[in-house]
Amino acid sequence: MNSILDLKKLKTVEQVNVKGKVVMLRTDYNVPIVDGNVINDFRIRKSLPTIRYLFEHNVKRIIILSHLKNPKGYDKAFTLEPVKNKLQELLNMPVEFVDLEKLIGSHGKITLVENIRFWKEKENDPFLAEFLSEFADVYVFDAFSVAHRKHTTTWSLMEHLSTCAGFLVEQEIKALSKIFQPARPFLAIIGGAKISTKLNTIKALCNVADYVYVGGAMIFTIMSALGQKVGKSLVEPEMIETIKKEWDEIKEKVILPKDFVIARNPEAEAILSDNIPDEFIAYDIGEKSIQELKELISKANFIVWNGPMGMFENEKFEVGTRELVKSLENSSAYTIVGGGETITAIEGWSSFEKFDHVSTGGGAMLKFIENPLLPGLVHLFKN
Ligand code: ADP
Ligand code: MG
Repeated sequence: MNSILDLKKLKTVEQVNVKGKVVMLRTDYNVPIVDGNVINDFRIRKSLPTIRYLFEHNVKRIIILSHLKNPKGYDKAFTLEPVKNKLQELLNMPVEFVDLEKLIGSHGKITLVENIRFWKEKENDPFLAEFLSEFADVYVFDAFSVAHRKHTTTWSLMEHLSTCAGFLVEQEIKALSKIFQPARPFLAIIGGAKISTKLNTIKALCNVADYVYVGGAMIFTIMSALGQKVGKSLVEPEMIETIKKEWDEIKEKVILPKDFVIARNPEAEAILSDNIPDEFIAYDIGEKSIQELKELISKANFIVWNGPMGMFENEKFEVGTRELVKSLENSSAYTIVGGGETITAIEGWSSFEKFDHVSTGGGAMLKFIENPLLPGLVHLFKN
């Protein structure tokens, strides 16, 4: 059983006196931008409750830090300027936007600092941390999606400034902690591309869930390790030995699909089949599998889902994932969902309100399941 965080010791923004203080706020504004426009503002909206709370409690000033993608050094191709425009629109007030070196001399009521990854954010740099800390009295961490990283804004900066959790991080921690004290039966559903990125999460889920349904491309590596035929489906050969070693530990909980939608290539005719002949690739789970998954969902009282069941971007192979989304939205279980493509699928076929918790962290959610005391959360708990 994984350790459970002591939620009573979580320091939240509501426990801190912010009146008259300069608050540094770490958000996740890593949003999709096309032609200088933010095309999905979900993450920006998610930061608004904390920002509004801070203003309602009369902070002197808010300085926001965020990253955008993965620039190698200073590169205006990765500017946060479009985010500033969107944030102004959503808050209906001017937002100052500055490069880090111009932070001295800036005094906006709310200031967004240019992409923090233009500087030594990923190096967990003590000098950058110290420099940043000079500008503020309090640090509010509200970027759950990077909590699994040990970066300047998720670690060193917290050693310099009094730190607490914003509302988004608080919500994530409280909802995801339920995984360790779930209502039962607890069904975990894991899919997606690579077993190498999710095997540890699957192992951790086998310790807490009653059933772990595994779909997506990752099953073909498992099936190969078990000596089953997978045709030309996606396999990670370097993972086969590891799976062989781990299988005994997880086989009691893991349920694999019984049939598949196969084709010779993504453009060719799609066929429903119980096995995968040599020349074929499996792109989705089949009807029997979907039926079994629906039955498991109908009996479950607690469900965690990450990762699509098939290559859902192609409509011939979307059925497994679409039916999963539909069954989950009608389920009365407590439902937690997260993951990049998982969220795309939910946006396509359902809406976020139909789920109890939509995590803003893909990787962070998976890592939280492995060990909830993520680096970025350590400093948010009182000793
Ligand atoms: P998430 O971002 O939700 O955690 P992943 O990144 O792990 O999910 O995986 C998503 C990708 O997995 C999707 O783009 C999908 O096309 C792919 N995928 C799922 N099943 C298959 C399959 N059978 N063959 C090829 N690709 C697949
Ligand atoms: Mg993904």
